[in-house]
Amino acid sequence: NQATDDATQGADRAPSAGAYSAAGVTISGLHKSFGDNEVLKGIDMEVAPGEVVCLIGASGSGKSTLLRCVNRLENPNAGTITVGEHEATHPDVNLDAMRRQIGMVFQQFNLFPHLSVLENCTITPRRVLGQSKAESEAEAMAQLDTVGLKHLSDRRPDQLSGGQQQRVAIARALTMKPQLMLFDEPTSALDPETVGDVLASMRKLAEAGMTMLVVTHEMGFAREVADRVVFMDQGLVVEEGPATDVIGNPQQPRTQDFLRRVL
Ligand code: ADP
Ligand code: MG
Repeated sequence: NQATDDATQGADRAPSAGAYSAAGVTISGLHKSFGDNEVLKGIDMEVAPGEVVCLIGASGSGKSTLLRCVNRLENPNAGTITVGEHEATHPDVNLDAMRRQIGMVFQQFNLFPHLSVLENCTITPRRVLGQSKAESEAEAMAQLDTVGLKHLSDRRPDQLSGGQQQRVAIARALTMKPQLMLFDEPTSALDPETVGDVLASMRKLAEAGMTMLVVTHEMGFAREVADRVVFMDQGLVVEEGPATDVIGNPQQPRTQDFLRRVL
């Protein structure tokens, strides 16, 4: 029984159990433009170690750009970002070391199609962390187990549903032992019937104490799992707070408009 399993695991792995060594994120005065299109107009945001923050907002409001600035897939024009002990925006930042601490899961999961599920999860730890085959396989099987896919480790990605592939992508990210997970609309490309299992895996990760910054349109997930919800509009944070406030009782007209459209 999957639901009972998940519940038990969650209880066993409360945040205080320290299953993950979680890093926090601090963003101050972040500006980003593409040409003369100013996409981020001065963002301040904090994610404490072990905290789960859901980032919501209309398409084009700058959510993906913000996430991409955190691991420096985009170069900000101004402002500072720190991830754990790394100052992402410092000219001398060790980007490889910083990125090893950050797992990222996108809408498109980009698994290697010619590799098995297990190989997808071992290739980077072997290449980047120098793990042995045995060590990387043991770790990968443990992570596949946490997303409920250990029994499919020999399959190829095209033999899995979209939701299963996304859970492999999550397991793959976890094999690098990240201290922060960034999710950019991880369920937006999935068939509705496979969304629930992906969200359940993410919830389990949250309950295990991972720091998570999640861009999502899943308001149910945000309500139930997020410690805090941040609503962005046109490159600015308009409203933030507990989900019960931001989603349940929004104060700003722009938040109210957005929620009327998505709920
Ligand atoms: P969201 O994720 O909230 O939908 P994005 O961060 O993807 O928003 O996009 C915000 C704005 O930035 C959009 O107007 C988009 O066209 C623009 N943008 C994003 N990435 C680039 C890029 N690489 N080059 C030019 N414009 C971009
Ligand atoms: Mg986006």
